[in-house]
Amino acid sequence: MVKNLKEELDATLEAVNSFRVRAWFEGEKEILECGKFTREEWEKILDFFIDDETERRKVLITLKKLKNATLAQLEQELGISNFNIRKHLRLLEYEGLVERSGKDTDGAETVYKPILKSELSRTPYEKIKFIVDEKLCVDCGACLSYCPTNAITIVDEAPVIDEDKCIGCGICNIVACPRTFLYLDLIRDHVKGEPSNLGEEPIAAYKNAFTAQTKKEEIKKVCQDGGIVTSLASYLFDHNLIDGVLAVKKTGENWITEPVVITNKEELLGTAGTKYVITPTLVGLEKAKKMGLKKIAVIGTPCQIQAVRKSQVFSDGFQELMGDVAYIIGIFCMENFAYQNMKKISEEYCKVNLENARKMDINKGQFSVHSKTGESTSVPIKEVTSLARDACHVCPDLTNELADISVGSIGSGPGWSTVLVRTEKGKELFQKAQEEGYLTSKPLDEAETGLPLLIKLAKGKRKRNLEKLDSKREEGKYATFF
Ligand SMILES: Cc1cc2nc3c(=O)[nH]c(=O)nc-3n(C[C@H](O)[C@H](O)[C@H](O)COP(=O)(O)OP(=O)(O)OC[C@H]3O[C@@H](n4cnc5c(N)ncnc54)[C@H](O)[C@@H]3O)c2cc1C
Ligand code: SF4
Ligand code: SF4
Repeated sequence: MVKNLKEELDATLEAVNSFRVRAWFEGEKEILECGKFTREEWEKILDFFIDDETERRKVLITLKKLKNATLAQLEQELGISNFNIRKHLRLLEYEGLVERSGKDTDGAETVYKPILKSELSRTPYEKIKFIVDEKLCVDCGACLSYCPTNAITIVDEAPVIDEDKCIGCGICNIVACPRTFLYLDLIRDHVKGEPSNLGEEPIAAYKNAFTAQTKKEEIKKVCQDGGIVTSLASYLFDHNLIDGVLAVKKTGENWITEPVVITNKEELLGTAGTKYVITPTLVGLEKAKKMGLKKIAVIGTPCQIQAVRKSQVFSDGFQELMGDVAYIIGIFCMENFAYQNMKKISEEYCKVNLENARKMDINKGQFSVHSKTGESTSVPIKEVTSLARDACHVCPDLTNELADISVGSIGSGPGWSTVLVRTEKGKELFQKAQEEGYLTSKPLDEAETGLPLLIKLAKGKRKRNLEKLDSKREEGKYATFF
């Protein structure tokens, strides 16, 4: 608690005048006209913004009073939870109101200092256009889902803002986008609920590692590897643990993809299999809300899951309104491709017309296209990696560190999946699905190459991409992952 009544009032006043509260309040008409949120929801979010912003201002006022402080000193002074103070400090830092010296993450020696406003170099709610311009956008679709005035559409695999509709609330930047800032330390704590159990590099914390295969014949016929992703989602539907899944589907024979919200097991089969095409899965968050779904699972690549987790940390007020993301099934991903580049790899490098391509995979350093007539052609991944989306080259996460369960192929033999069970929720889901005959598993040590190869490749991706990320950070183009 701020002990002084004046400080309490100052914090509330500053909160009411903050850009976020003002934009939400002044944008009432536009938000309600757009129809994404009801009046009741608008009021609820306004209340949340005021409370959240007031707490953040208390942190800033206290910091100004103390001149500088460690986290422990702030905790003692404010009586706010450690997690919330860190969250507020991170946002204040992002807004250019606070700086820290010492470690990247909060060590006992990290000291926070307020910055005078006149020294500010950026507006706090810079729109995500700069992420697109800097080629950092992963086309996850989260900004479109969260934008309260439908100002965002996706054109040519990237968001475009209609300035006439934009109310400058900054939600696309602060709540949704996994590329403006992430603060992984905080998000990892949120995922585990145990601040002491931080993820270890390079594949982050996991409870168990398996090699696994579906026992469902109908899934075996259509899946990419071991069919674990589709089997887990099937289990969730069968047990009414969810009423929708966000996934990706092909729209026809030419590998054009679309993000879909699936509401039953039968449709789920149509989403199985990997499409190496950037697809904005998270536009499904908005669709799911419109459809009135209450409990959803998200299947996604690491960048997509980073967006989901970020919004869980930085938008408590929104979460329940956007449908509770009850389960997160993450897929491993080294890199992904724009549609035209995937087409180029299939047709120019592998000489398979897309209409004739049955399956694509990346294995043992080769991008392979398997045709409907039974032939397979490959190209070394090294030769086509420059065709991957630029934003993939600054993502350090191969194994989907923030998911409940992560699934990939590296480490396992053909027709099997490597599974990293990360959270309690994920553990229970995997165990039950196995007990009830959806899948079978063995410890990953018994698999083809097992953990050593996975760790080696994850380390490689992390090192390469963190170097690129650092150079972006130095140019001031990125906030931070940490
Ligand atoms: C772009 C991409 C790159 C990958 N790179 C690697 C890698 O380097 N190493 C590795 O071990 N594994 C990688 N994977 C994961 C691997 O291809 C399989 O998805 C994973 O092993 C799960 O297999 P499964 O048989 O359990 O999945 P299935 O049961 O077949 O289910 C696949 C799921 O993936 C979803 N999906 C398909 N395409 C996309 C997409 N473009 N974006 C988001 N979701 C999608 C579908 O909605 C479906 O739910 C990658 C996946 C993708 C999408
Ligand atoms: S584009 Fe971004 S800043 Fe503009 S209204 Fe939408 S979420 Fe808010
Ligand atoms: S990364 Fe996702 S949230 Fe960020 S700008 Fe691109 S589509 Fe929007």
